[in-house]
Amino acid sequence: MVKLQQPKYVYMNGGLCLWNEATLHIGCEAVTRSLNVFEGLKGYWQPEGPFGIVQLRSHYERLRRSARLLHIPFETSFDDYRNALAQLVEALLESDQDMWFRTTLYGVEGHWGEGTVADLVITGYHQDKRVPDPIALGLSTWRRSPDVSLPARIKAGSNYQVARLARIEGKALGCQDMVLLNTSGRVAEATASCIVMVRDGVIYTPPATEGALESVTLDIVEAMAKSMNIPFIRRPIDRTELLVADEIALCGTLAELILVKSIEGQPLNGESPILRSLQARYFRAVRNVDPHPFVELSVLTDKVTSDKQRTY
Ligand code: PMP
Repeated sequence: MVKLQQPKYVYMNGGLCLWNEATLHIGCEAVTRSLNVFEGLKGYWQPEGPFGIVQLRSHYERLRRSARLLHIPFETSFDDYRNALAQLVEALLESDQDMWFRTTLYGVEGHWGEGTVADLVITGYHQDKRVPDPIALGLSTWRRSPDVSLPARIKAGSNYQVARLARIEGKALGCQDMVLLNTSGRVAEATASCIVMVRDGVIYTPPATEGALESVTLDIVEAMAKSMNIPFIRRPIDRTELLVADEIALCGTLAELILVKSIEGQPLNGESPILRSLQARYFRAVRNVDPHPFVELSVLTDKVTSDKQRTY
């Protein structure tokens, strides 16, 4: 049974409060109509150095876009967003673990789009410093909803209902994650990450218009691939192309770069050399061991770690 961590503090109502006191009223639209948009951000310790949050501004900008698309007022400036996150980092950070943060705008007042007021709530969770193991991936019978229904471009909690069903389906099949196809039957993304595949030395990923979130991590991976002279192309991907891909990986802030070892029960050929090298490059960049010009690391606290850790 997976138990959600319950860190001592949460940022809510403009300041820190205790986990048990961070509650929403059952009558608010966040509860009755799932009115919330959010961002997941990751912070990494640098060996014997500071703790840096990856692409803070890109996440802020996407939160702003999600809020706009759902008509949720979002008055928080970038500096205030940064300062709010800094308060929680200061309160929760421990020197032996990385952290994942969820910054959510909950609709706390309003009715059917009138008088909407949102509160910025931030939670932070501790994470082990380790490279994820390769996973078994399946294809879900559930579909990513199209742009005219529940757009994948909006990072709203309600978008994860389908993802949840796909994960339940995957669990019964022994898969750690599932691919959601779009309503045209082409590859959209995984339940909480984007997907990349390699065929004949070229990395492909579906564009957001195929039903994928506009991923912050994918932009990093694209920039890294280009600087490593690996061709990277965004174009629609057929289901059968994925089934015969040389290499596959999931990519996202929390997923980082997870290699896939099998698809629909069939093992992939080989050791995924291209995506493995990108994975190593990714970790070296986010830990600032080998900085990449595209990767921005925001240091929000004076704390440093004495931990040397693996440098990948
Ligand atoms: N798609 C979905 C459905 C996600 O939840 C995520 C994780 N945020 C991604 C893609 C990857 O996005 P990002 O790289 O910005 O984290």
